[in-house]
Amino acid sequence: MENSLVSWVGRWPLKIIDTILIDSENFRKGMFDPAKSAAWKVELGFNSEHFSPAVKAYERLGELKGVLEDYLREARKRGLRVFVYLNGHWADVSQLKAHPDWFQVDYSGKVIDDVYGRGLMPCVNSPGWRESSYSLMEEVAELGPGGIFLDGPVFHVRGCYCRWCRSAFEERYGIEPPRKGDLADPRHPQLVGFQKESLASYMRGAYEVVKSVNPEVAVYMNGQPPGPAWATGRDNEILSRYQDLVGAEGGFEYYNLFETPVFKPGLTAKLLEAQAPGKPRVVFIAANHRPWCRELLTPAELLNRCAQTLANGAFYWIGITWWSGKLAEAVRRANSWVDAAGDLLVGTRDASSVAIYWSQSTCDYYGGEVPVSDFTGETKRVARDYLKSVYGAYEMLLRLGVPFKLATSPRQLDGVEVLIVPNAAYLSDEEAEGLRDFVEKGGVLVASFETGLYGPRGAARQLRSGRPLRGRLRAKPLLRILRELHDRVGRVVPGDRALARGQALDGRTSGLLLGEHGRLVPAGQAELDALPAAQRVRQGSRLLLLRQLLRNVPRVQVQQLPEPPAQGSGRALPEPRRAGGPLELR
Ligand SMILES: [Zn+2]
Repeated sequence: MENSLVSWVGRWPLKIIDTILIDSENFRKGMFDPAKSAAWKVELGFNSEHFSPAVKAYERLGELKGVLEDYLREARKRGLRVFVYLNGHWADVSQLKAHPDWFQVDYSGKVIDDVYGRGLMPCVNSPGWRESSYSLMEEVAELGPGGIFLDGPVFHVRGCYCRWCRSAFEERYGIEPPRKGDLADPRHPQLVGFQKESLASYMRGAYEVVKSVNPEVAVYMNGQPPGPAWATGRDNEILSRYQDLVGAEGGFEYYNLFETPVFKPGLTAKLLEAQAPGKPRVVFIAANHRPWCRELLTPAELLNRCAQTLANGAFYWIGITWWSGKLAEAVRRANSWVDAAGDLLVGTRDASSVAIYWSQSTCDYYGGEVPVSDFTGETKRVARDYLKSVYGAYEMLLRLGVPFKLATSPRQLDGVEVLIVPNAAYLSDEEAEGLRDFVEKGGVLVASFETGLYGPRGAARQLRSGRPLRGRLRAKPLLRILRELHDRVGRVVPGDRALARGQALDGRTSGLLLGEHGRLVPAGQAELDALPAAQRVRQGSRLLLLRQLLRNVPRVQVQQLPEPPAQGSGRALPEPRRAGGPLELR
């Protein structure tokens, strides 16, 4: 990729496996066989992996260096690219004695020691921990693995108020830090900004350390899944500058599955693309129902998550914590889809003309439920939940069968005809201006509820629903704008009667489909039945229609796209030529 220093990243599709728990268990029992482990992963069809010699990011490799060297040799022989996994988010409580000022502290001044039940979380602002973790990365980079994957660091949902964080915050802002999680506190955005900058500064350092040893070692970290980032401090857009690829846990689902949208992997892939368009993207898929390591997904659930990931322009990482053989056929099948598509999956970009606007500042300042994750341990519920509005818009388009992308800035609206802004309560002046430009150029804007009502620092804009914002842009009820949308494309969607009655759409509703010219066209019943979700992507001169079928029958249809039309000839895409029949990925 143009933004990566690493020549091999972005050249071919990644199929990443992680069996760290299984390997370490075997290692502890003295049964770990590097050749056997690598051969098994390749036999399942993977070409890359996360591998850990079971060190925390505060330790040195020590005697494990030999294990890692042996393993890297066996993996290299078989063409398996190894990302060495480093744990930067958890430490045993016994470490506190040796390193009393490395770990995160809560608002009351107490060291946080209940991470995953019992454990500590390192603080990136602690110079001692930072230097120690950089030394380990240097040591690992010297062994020349394919890459280094950092699981963490992140901020704890209750931290951090260690002496390093407190003094740096107070020096920067001249005030005491507010209590974390009190979104109503006017100082809270400053705390969020401070923590995001702290993590970015750590990653910049980590990236430089690794690249100074060996520029061919790729670096990436466990990024922020869709949702508020105030708890962890991860800002994917900023952090992507110091990574060769980006990834997030879009395929981790916890506890009550009704609380997690089935489209979370696809949503994550779309968001990562908007946040880091120049980098390869990875959606981390747990092969188990979190948090239970031995509660495996069914093969269909796993395939569904993989299919969504691929159809939305990302690669999957499959985390296997327990192996019974039950998923062997499913993982081979997913890997065979990737093999069949080959480099068609590389370097794609979304070509949808419908977009949902993602406002990270609304997540972080207005309030959005913080979904449960390994880092937060539980769902953080809030009074005002922005995320639900996004889920609603997302599901509506998904069920209508309209291909769409996410946009995180008005600068990403080239080629977009319809933009849905679901309750983006916090818009900066620049964003509001950008949306106005979009409307003035003929774009259709769908804005709901409190969109644009607040500035980024909490000052309410002089706007009420229906009152004009800078003349043109209005916050309108969703249904009214949907009607306009239908008028614009000259088609009333039968489904809108169901919408008007407030009923959920079902999978049989006819709707709109993006036609070959990038325009919305009516789609028949059968067509939509066969296409619950689809994605148009461009790759160089090729236009791909990636079909993601919820019934686990993904197909990639390849079409040749002629040279783009001369400037000023309008937005419509030229007539594509078929370059052979659809390529079945079975
Ligand atoms: Zn701290």
